[in-house]
Amino acid sequence: MYTPAKACSHHNHGHCISDAIVAARQLCDERGVRLTSLREQVLELVWQSHQPLGAYTLMDMLGKASTRQIAPPTVYRALDFLLEEGLIHRINSLNAFIGCPSPSQKHQSHFLICQDCKVAVELDNAQLNQHLNDVAAESGFSVTSHSLEISGLCPACQTDGNKDLL
Ligand SMILES: [Zn+2]
Ligand SMILES: [Zn+2]
Ligand SMILES: [Zn+2]
Repeated sequence: MYTPAKACSHHNHGHCISDAIVAARQLCDERGVRLTSLREQVLELVWQSHQPLGAYTLMDMLGKASTRQIAPPTVYRALDFLLEEGLIHRINSLNAFIGCPSPSQKHQSHFLICQDCKVAVELDNAQLNQHLNDVAAESGFSVTSHSLEISGLCPACQTDGNKDLL
């Protein structure tokens, strides 16, 4: 038996967004870094769904949401800031960004990515991290970072697929 990740089941996503914003404000406050209104706006856009978004999509959304023109380097700097503070992660295989649900501690992030609905679920698994380090150590390799990106079908999309078969 398994528990589907929140991102893959029905939930009030408005809470995900507001929780993320509250957590980000609090963290930035504690760390003495500034969550400017643009940084916060970018974070909110990244959190629009549990699907990773690329920089261009974010710039598009930002352009529509705002009356002033925002230059791409400004958006990249905001993304860099959010990455640096661990508020978002980059998914390399998609060249896209996703909000981190537990940004208070720095961690290695791994993702389960649904190839159908594009939802990405973060895996933060101490056992997996330890195992990766052990496997690398067996080859005499010292690990600085790792990120696994696993593609497949989420529970909801597997069910949809079954429906199609009937
Ligand atoms: Zn959500
Ligand atoms: Zn994370
Ligand atoms: Zn899916």
